[in-house]
Amino acid sequence: MMRPDVKSMDRKELAAFVAELGEKPFRAIQLFEWLHAKRADSFEEMTNLSGAFRKRLAESSRLVCLKQVKVQVSADGTRKYLFALEDGNVIESVLMRYRHGNSVCISSQAGCRMGCRFCASTLDGLVRNLAPSEMLDQIYRIGKDIEERISNVVVMGTGEPLDNYENLLKFIGLLNDEKGQNISQRNITVSTCGIVPGVHDLAKERLGITLALSLHAPNQKKRLSLMPVASAYGIEEVVDACRQYFEKTGRRVTFEYSLIGGVNDSAEDAAELAALLSGMNCHVNLIPVNPVKERDFLPSDRAAVRAFKERLSLEKINATVRREMGRDIDGACGQLRHAHLNVES
Ligand code: SAH
Repeated sequence: MMRPDVKSMDRKELAAFVAELGEKPFRAIQLFEWLHAKRADSFEEMTNLSGAFRKRLAESSRLVCLKQVKVQVSADGTRKYLFALEDGNVIESVLMRYRHGNSVCISSQAGCRMGCRFCASTLDGLVRNLAPSEMLDQIYRIGKDIEERISNVVVMGTGEPLDNYENLLKFIGLLNDEKGQNISQRNITVSTCGIVPGVHDLAKERLGITLALSLHAPNQKKRLSLMPVASAYGIEEVVDACRQYFEKTGRRVTFEYSLIGGVNDSAEDAAELAALLSGMNCHVNLIPVNPVKERDFLPSDRAAVRAFKERLSLEKINATVRREMGRDIDGACGQLRHAHLNVES
């Protein structure tokens, strides 16, 4: 059996584990701080713990640390990291530098099984879920690499977070912990392709995080042609789940809408989208689709993007066009990992 992963343990679990090793409760707090505040990458460096305890920790548990395989730096400061997991799988994470702070986009799974037609993350299928430690360590490694504070985290990299629900919740708790990175829930965004039962479950947690819903189409027919998940959960059901999410949490939902030239970017599409979301306290994030080599979708042109946004504004729907970052370094989700796998195979 694999030794337990201490970085994935919540405070209660860590306290029980440390007690089992015969140590006093305050040692669990010290260990927690080494793992999550100081982002230690070895037990040896935890110098306020006794040598004997460190040795027992190393013998009886695992300290999960990602290995940096590659980093690509964009002209706009965006950095894209390829990390190797213990079992040799690779995942990618992105650092975006904004005026308001540093934001890290993390992967929640190695690969993805959702099959969205425009997305590179799903091209190689799902390999496995990431453990809470593997999600956290993407942020820890990047923070240490740039030696600056990470203020925002978006779970918008490879994978479907609600398909890895328990680990996601644990990850949020650990990231948010005041004895760890202490990143406020308000600065954490989770993006889903629309797994309705997961949205309802998340609403019940009443967290302060932002939910982003990948909509990408104004009606069921178009959505189904882009996102196979729509065959399980219809567009009305998804939007209704978001309405309920807002009612339960008071947090405004963000709808992600990738604009694809000639596919979902017409004036009729904008009007239909406005009708679908009318009366809802929400925000629409428009992003011209990032072209992926294996797919033949092209981004909408500037005029179409502007017209789409204006049409939404006219109908009183809040919308912003997301600044494209890192396009020169394969900005689209999963492109770096996919390229790496294809070189390897
Ligand atoms: N599985 C989750 C999170 C990962 S994808 C989800 O579906 O939301 C993060 C966002 O990037 C989603 O909105 C996704 O639809 C979008 N995306 C994926 N590939 C893209 C591409 N080539 N261009 C623009 N957006 C893309």
